[in-house]
Amino acid sequence: MAVGGGESGPVPGVVFEHEAKALLREAGVPVPRGVVITGPAPDFGAVGGLSEPVVLKAFGPGLVHKSDSGAVRLGLRLAEVADAAGRMREALAARGIAPSGFLVEEQAAAGVELIAGLVRDPGFGPVLLTGLGGVWAEALRDTALALCPVSEDDVRRMLGSLRGSALLHGYRGGAGVDVGAVVKLLMTLGGPGGLWERLELGEFEANPVIATPSGVVAVDARYLPSASPTGRATGGGDFRKLFEPRSVAVVGASTTRPNFGNMFLDFYRAAGMPVVAVHPEAAEVAGVPAVPSLAAAGADYALVAVPAERCADVVRQATGVAYTQVMSGGFGEAGRPELEADLVEAARAAGTRLLGPNCMGVYCPRGRQTFTGGGLGPPGTVALISQSGGLAGEVIKVGERRGLAFSRVATVGNAADVTPAELLRWLSHDPETRAVGLYLEDPREGRALYEALAATTLPVALLVGGRSAQGRRAAASHTGGLVGDGRIWRALAEQTGAALVGSQDDLIGVLSFFQAHGARPASGDGALVIGPSGGASVLAADAFDQAGVGLEPLPGDALPDLRGLGLGAGSTLANPLEVPVGPRGRPELVRRAVAAILRRRPYRDVVAHVNVQSFFTYGTSAEPLLEYARALGGAQEELAGTRFTLVTRNGECAPAGVEDEVRRIAGRAGVPVYRSMEAAAVAVAAGRTLDRLALDGRAGS
Ligand code: ADP
Ligand code: MG
Repeated sequence: MAVGGGESGPVPGVVFEHEAKALLREAGVPVPRGVVITGPAPDFGAVGGLSEPVVLKAFGPGLVHKSDSGAVRLGLRLAEVADAAGRMREALAARGIAPSGFLVEEQAAAGVELIAGLVRDPGFGPVLLTGLGGVWAEALRDTALALCPVSEDDVRRMLGSLRGSALLHGYRGGAGVDVGAVVKLLMTLGGPGGLWERLELGEFEANPVIATPSGVVAVDARYLPSASPTGRATGGGDFRKLFEPRSVAVVGASTTRPNFGNMFLDFYRAAGMPVVAVHPEAAEVAGVPAVPSLAAAGADYALVAVPAERCADVVRQATGVAYTQVMSGGFGEAGRPELEADLVEAARAAGTRLLGPNCMGVYCPRGRQTFTGGGLGPPGTVALISQSGGLAGEVIKVGERRGLAFSRVATVGNAADVTPAELLRWLSHDPETRAVGLYLEDPREGRALYEALAATTLPVALLVGGRSAQGRRAAASHTGGLVGDGRIWRALAEQTGAALVGSQDDLIGVLSFFQAHGARPASGDGALVIGPSGGASVLAADAFDQAGVGLEPLPGDALPDLRGLGLGAGSTLANPLEVPVGPRGRPELVRRAVAAILRRRPYRDVVAHVNVQSFFTYGTSAEPLLEYARALGGAQEELAGTRFTLVTRNGECAPAGVEDEVRRIAGRAGVPVYRSMEAAAVAVAAGRTLDRLALDGRAGS
């Protein structure tokens, strides 16, 4: 699209207000009627056709925020314009600014001022932003954003999320604005086929947009074209050999000084993976047969653990190797991007795909792939993609301890070639995988990730590290300055339905929930909390409120049944429902109470909690607690359309091994177990991700 030019003559890289407004007008967004006046002896006669009052604005290079320079005059009569322009020119000259010309336009009626903008984020690409306040937008910081293309739902959610959204609907007797017109404007900017697609987008901003009961008008517009669009193209590899290579080669293990390479030889041997070492002289390394070069190894997968400077040479020999993992660090992350570029170039030349550099590798029990000691866990259905090898190792070990079973885990380190988005796309079609965890630190390929998340049919739990440290270019417009601080990750999660979690613990917790309930066709809504009486119930209500999960009241017609079970004597029957649970409680009680309630009202989630400590006050027998877990498991099997969750509060009071046994019993029945109400609340809230997939008809297919 041609912009620039006009009577004032083009200035490269600068688009003046009236030119940006012409773009808006063409796209169907109302802007004030106006006249542009240029030239050394400007003729203001042309303003005659405008309706009073009018606004006078100077434009030219260096006039970015016009009000700051005294380059805006409001409320003029036509007869005053020429005079005002002369004085404005003088005042600007005193500041060393020579305007290229003037824009005289009709003054719009007052209303609610909004900001509407587009910005190309370096990682996520085009982002739509809106907020209240117009010129005050920056000070109020009351803004919302979403990745383009936005849907009408996204836009309405953005507007609804503004703290001041009541102003749009009429506040204290004021008339509400035409919200439909605001939505339309935002869709024109950020919706399918919107301006974001048609501009060489750096930033585009309408600020303010004045919204009134009868419509919207954009009274200022600013457009900063971008030098070059960012974003990396990502291929679409077949990653089966990454996770299930027939054999692997390890480069860098030593015959004299055991190092990381030797450690991997041990891991692979323990996992039963056919492995060869690559060594220039030795015929074997630590009991593993060795070959002199990678090309001679005949492996599907190579692990390279040599100093950074030598990695590219090794990778260049990887002809015929499907995947080459560079474990070594010392590349881009250490301020040596040129070494990383060499590595990518070497991988391309050899025809191998590169994992890393600076990564731990791959874990896949069914493929005997591993980067952790202590043997392989059970093969399962949960995948993990992590930019941190250390974190992935912890999630594997702790997760398996808590009952997770993994299909595929890939650590990507610097992701110089194989990227998280590409892996996610492949996992989405992997028959072994039913849920995905993502740990990311770098938003560089945010756009590709957004697209992969939007397309996936799997539930995804997303943990982002270093959200506050995102490096962002200094922005000339308000819009640019308002993007950041992790809000973009929240927008991405909302738009794609991924569950954004705040800690490693919650990542494991939410994945456990997905593993247990991912294939369950749950119906109903809200959660029922049931457990022993006391402050725990009150705190449970708070924890679920905090997580955004509603504890809807009990159905009235279930109360007689509950009383019949002996509940509610001396206390009210409510949600959370208080039942005696402990060593002398009847384990069947919870099951029968829940059945009585669900017959009348389908809660989607039932959260049963116990105080583990109370089971061990008068003895050490674990049997009553295990019996309780069995009863709850039985309830889950009986009531398959409801998601059961067990919270074992104060679990550290159980003798060693008892918690594991409880988890095993519950796990067999498909009930995830949490040690705190807060962790359970986060996981139950993430169940929305499953509901959304089920609604889209995507889950279980
Ligand atoms: P700046 O470059 O300082 O953002 P603007 O063009 O946004 O300059 O003008 C400053 C303020 O003047 C706007 O925030 C708005 O309140 C008011 N204004 C500008 N143009 C108009 C107009 N055509 N109708 C009504 N108000 C206007
Ligand atoms: Mg403005």
